[in-house]
Amino acid sequence: MKRLAAGSTAVPTLWDESRKENGIATPWEDPIKRSKTLTVFPGGSVAGGAWGSVFANAIKEFNRLSAAHTLGITLSQSATPPHPSGVGGADVQFEAGNGNVSFTSFGQQFSVSVNGNSLGGDTRQVKTVFGAVQRIAKAFIVVPATPQINANPPRAVGDGVMLFIAVHELIHACGLSNGDHNPDDLFSGFPQARAGNKRQDDKLEVNQQKRLPPLFLTTKTAGVIQALWK
Ligand SMILES: [Zn+2]
Repeated sequence: MKRLAAGSTAVPTLWDESRKENGIATPWEDPIKRSKTLTVFPGGSVAGGAWGSVFANAIKEFNRLSAAHTLGITLSQSATPPHPSGVGGADVQFEAGNGNVSFTSFGQQFSVSVNGNSLGGDTRQVKTVFGAVQRIAKAFIVVPATPQINANPPRAVGDGVMLFIAVHELIHACGLSNGDHNPDDLFSGFPQARAGNKRQDDKLEVNQQKRLPPLFLTTKTAGVIQALWK
């Protein structure tokens, strides 16, 4: 029998207050892994608002990075939410929230709490456990609904930073944990916000004063993804 470890296998927030780096990268269930594709359903909180266009661009941007680094995994947008039973529908659900956002997977309800004005998302990997073998069966992403940057006074952050947040969480959805965070690229766990004079000039800074966008991955992060999807 498969035992489900839902919620308990959560990947903490992008800017984890405890700064706890833990967990290891987990592969998806074999049929999904073999398909080399994850389907991603944008929920109702994403359509129409600030996240609508960013979501579509994040899928494209992930696929651009995947092609450039031969990651072995392509994302495609789905119109069908993950089935609450855990079987069927999209592999990944993407929502924008403020406070608690609830999901049901494998018949179990759980909620993800996100500060809607923050610059950090949260991805929960729902895993099946068979003996010592863990596999991801579904993933649920929540990004902040109205991310703000401190430009003195705070204001809505630019689309480029939102794109960073979205692609970072999509990489968690591929199977990477907080323990795989890399301070040298967009999978940094602690990027620093750098407000521009205009929204479109806002950036997140990682090691060596590199400011994103443009989004980039180092070979180290790419290698972790390649290993999960080979
Ligand atoms: Zn992260």
